[in-house]
Amino acid sequence: MKILITEFRQESNSFNPTNSTLAFWRQTGEYEGDEVRQQFAGQPCAVGGFLQVLAESEHQPEVVCGTVMACQSGGIAEQSVMDHYMSKLIAQIKDNLPLDGVFISYHGALVTTEYDDPEGEITRRVRELVGDSTVIAVSTDLHAYISATLVDNANVVLAYLTYPHVDYFETGARVARLGLECITGKRKPVTAWVPVPMIVPAASYSTLKGGFKAVIDFGNSLKLQHKIIDFSVYQMQPWLDIPDPNSSVVVAAYCQEDAAKYAQQLAELLYAKRHEFSVQLMPVAEVINRASDPDERKPVILVDSADSCNAGAAGDNMAVAAQILASGCTFRAAAVVNDEKAAQKAHRLGVGATAEFTLGASRDKRSQAVTVQAYVKSLHDGVFRQEGPAGRGMTQRIGTTAVLRVGNLDIVVCEWMAGNGDPQLYRAHGIEPTLYDLVVVKASTSFRVAYEKLAGVICEANTPGSASSDLKSLPFERLPRNIYPWVDEDVLDWSVRFTREMK
Ligand SMILES: [Zn+2]
Repeated sequence: MKILITEFRQESNSFNPTNSTLAFWRQTGEYEGDEVRQQFAGQPCAVGGFLQVLAESEHQPEVVCGTVMACQSGGIAEQSVMDHYMSKLIAQIKDNLPLDGVFISYHGALVTTEYDDPEGEITRRVRELVGDSTVIAVSTDLHAYISATLVDNANVVLAYLTYPHVDYFETGARVARLGLECITGKRKPVTAWVPVPMIVPAASYSTLKGGFKAVIDFGNSLKLQHKIIDFSVYQMQPWLDIPDPNSSVVVAAYCQEDAAKYAQQLAELLYAKRHEFSVQLMPVAEVINRASDPDERKPVILVDSADSCNAGAAGDNMAVAAQILASGCTFRAAAVVNDEKAAQKAHRLGVGATAEFTLGASRDKRSQAVTVQAYVKSLHDGVFRQEGPAGRGMTQRIGTTAVLRVGNLDIVVCEWMAGNGDPQLYRAHGIEPTLYDLVVVKASTSFRVAYEKLAGVICEANTPGSASSDLKSLPFERLPRNIYPWVDEDVLDWSVRFTREMK
């Protein structure tokens, strides 16, 4: 048995005006062959899960490590990035035919300058190459956009079941197990897909509590009762300006009838909960008042999800920092911003220097910039390891980094922030969040798994940016307004489609 594994993963944001170039992708690395094993074996990621399950399989498959490219979220990818990946992947597949399986790790919410659904297109091209008797098994993020093209060409499609995501490895392992079962099992699994006409802000739900947890709990109960093999519930990343959007449900079972029945039940439940998926945003001034109130529990976490790089926003908006400074900043505050030039200037000046810096709007000209006299507190190479629990031990690289101090405000200034929901983005740079009154976190929900343990209070703030939770305020040009929240129908006709069934 021979299986090729590969990864091509980014979460795009149509409203970030800076396209993601090949150079940007390569900041996160590009691996193939033995480098993939060295880099990802045992690591908390989907490729780590693939490797582990295949290594432990009684069928002892030969594992070919194809190209692995994953990029920090950002603006839509240049087509040259996908072309580069495809030129590698096609050669790797051709060199290894015939293959029993191709296991692919995607994010699922990638958009390129030419394709609204690159994952569907890539899977279609892979299918063309490998033929009908090869199993294509796909692992994605819970925020993926699943299309009919992807479903038509894959055999297995599964996503994370947690948000904040803490099951990267497990998802890769589930996909590899189901993929192996499609190759070797006496009973062949089949997956049903039901699109759900809704998009909702990522900050409005989690699998820790509330309506979305109830949907996931229901799926898990079906699994425990052996009514289904596995399932996923997709909340489409809502910052994709694409012409055929949908959230969706997939269910794997041993017959089409069961897969369809339970996928439809899960879809109905997800849609029935739609009104629970809204965010109450607090004015920034109110959050600042709470941070300056001696009776408030500290630290106050000001969530600036609209400028979250995890959601593909530019991470360069100083709108919140400007308000903190304008308030007089009588309390200790910490913020973070992408500004490559300012970070480099700090490195030229050295620790202990004070100079005028203009910070912000380095990538998105619509972001607010501020000009301040700042003290260079510390300088860093921007390489740190996440404390987790999500992705614990994974290395993040945020480029040239400096901590600048303006009055009581400490600002991590970097080239491209990553690991936004992980406290190490601050801790690794000498800022201990628990010693601050106000900490700005540019993330949607991912941060909760770590920050809920240390926060005095968490405040979702009403801030500007490409990842705004106020979906109706976003400048969609292509997305049709025929889905929730624009249209709110009580009764829907559900359509079901199936992945390819192996004979
Ligand atoms: Zn996600």
